[in-house]
Amino acid sequence: MIQKIQHLKCVLCGRRFGQDEVMYTCPDCGPFGLLNVIYNYSDIKKNFEKKLSKPPAVNENNIWRYIDILPVAEDSPRTNLRVGMTPYYKPERLAKFLGHEKLFVKDDGQNPTASFKDRASAVGVAKAFELKKEIITCASTGNAASSLAGICASMGLKSYIFVPKTAPIAKIAQLLLFGANVFMVDGNYDQAFDLCMQASEEFGWYNRNTGYNPYLLEGKKTCALEIYEQSKGDMPDYVFVSVGDGCIIGGIYKGFYDLMNLGLIEKAPKLIGVQAEGSNPFVRAFRDNRSRKLVDMTPQTVADSISVGIPRASHQGLNAVYATEGEFIDVTDAEILEALKTLPRYAGVFGEPAGVTSLAGFIKMKKEGRVPENASCAVVITGNGLKDISTAISCVKQAPVIEPTLKAVKAALKI
Ligand SMILES: *Cc1c(COP(=O)(O)O)cnc(C)c1O
Repeated sequence: MIQKIQHLKCVLCGRRFGQDEVMYTCPDCGPFGLLNVIYNYSDIKKNFEKKLSKPPAVNENNIWRYIDILPVAEDSPRTNLRVGMTPYYKPERLAKFLGHEKLFVKDDGQNPTASFKDRASAVGVAKAFELKKEIITCASTGNAASSLAGICASMGLKSYIFVPKTAPIAKIAQLLLFGANVFMVDGNYDQAFDLCMQASEEFGWYNRNTGYNPYLLEGKKTCALEIYEQSKGDMPDYVFVSVGDGCIIGGIYKGFYDLMNLGLIEKAPKLIGVQAEGSNPFVRAFRDNRSRKLVDMTPQTVADSISVGIPRASHQGLNAVYATEGEFIDVTDAEILEALKTLPRYAGVFGEPAGVTSLAGFIKMKKEGRVPENASCAVVITGNGLKDISTAISCVKQAPVIEPTLKAVKAALKI
């Protein structure tokens, strides 16, 4: 069998490590010295290309189709839930409404626990089994947590989870039903994250935080591999991604990076990172002469999943945009809510506020005339609308309540 992983490489100092040398981040650079997983691309290439030349078998219609280039051994225990291989739609009505023909929607709300995070959790939990860890932990605005809890439930692994007590009720319901041990932190996500880090160190729990554990980003990259396959080689010119910690956009870039290293694509699409105006450290750095340094802030936005003041994957997030000559842009909460209404109405796809922030960014750039007419654009919808019903219901008019008679229907129809 070929050795898939060549080394782990610190994103800050470039130091290389063997897989068994280090569990999380670079010991020289500390918690922000995240490690990138670098593969033996030339060894992997042949088999991988052959596999992609055939459509996925029924039991392979998930992220494990890409096992050749994932940091998990072939025979490691994995979740049997169908993670990944989410639809890549060409929504004609939405395209017409927005006046842009080549528009695609990647609906990641269709993952098992209804968010993009399942891609990372599936790999994280497989890794925990490989390392014979009995307990796994994470901090989360809600989705990483519910995702971890669901994947753990499918495999019988114990989880301890830290969420801000303000997380939407649907996400908390998922956690509890999946049987996770939940701490509702009386603080924001950034504080929940720090607490989780301390607990994981103190008790030796395996740490699933994406902006810390090198393998989680590898799960996230599968979205890019799917876009590559689903666009049938006609790759989008732009990919719009909602950004909080920067792990998703960093992961998607890693997918394109791997595809380039495997010689399957020549260049990556331009990545457009979209943040909420009230939670925009990446946008500020981008505007500050494409600075490589983020300035922390206190976040405030309706899009709870991207309400992050201290982004943990700052380097990978920035690199995704800089390396592809993309952009970071921000949108107001009003623009997010407008996108939240537009997507279901014209495409039949229902996203949570952070899930549609990407679309809000596309709409804004399009209005500003900054998306070339013929450019093909993919918008990643990262979370399902049922995750945050109270926000969704607050942006629509109430339906009329009527007597159970045809007369009442006629009256309501004004016939
Ligand atoms: C986590 C999440 C994001 C942002 O991902 P980051 O890695 O924090 O940038 C966006 N949308 C949804 C629905 C999420 O759950």
